[in-house]
Amino acid sequence: MNRPKLIVFDLDLTLWDHEDASRLTPPYRREGSVLIDSKGERLALREDALDVLVKLKSRGILLAVASWNEPRVREILDALGISRLFDVICIEPHPNKEVMLKKILNHVRSRGISVKPSEVILVDDNPMHREHAEKVGVRFVQFGKDIRRLSDLLSLVE
Ligand SMILES: [Mg+2]
Repeated sequence: MNRPKLIVFDLDLTLWDHEDASRLTPPYRREGSVLIDSKGERLALREDALDVLVKLKSRGILLAVASWNEPRVREILDALGISRLFDVICIEPHPNKEVMLKKILNHVRSRGISVKPSEVILVDDNPMHREHAEKVGVRFVQFGKDIRRLSDLLSLVE
């Protein structure tokens, strides 16, 4: 199996514990890795998320987001202070991650970086996206099943 060059993360129930970040209402207040919206609803990054993202990046792995959400959810990544860790952020209001993966690959390639689909992993809690990933030749890792913790990804890039 190819060592991955690019890892693409889902957000809801993968990178954080909230099931639908589009439901949150700004302005947000941040307490460490927890965000609280104007109605008191909380969203917490997975405990090991920041550490794993930083480690992957330090090992030269490109990082991206592919999320089925309203585009304004980008503000949540900003408020959590983690937007800067991602090379590409794709947040679109539809479930077709095949389309998002293609956009992400095109974006990376437009920067002159060669990445084959077989060198890409999509990490997502929702098994319906396996089909989307496999259609474009991207490996699917189901969070909560194939891996229990984000830090399990680190063994894939040693
Ligand atoms: Mg999800």
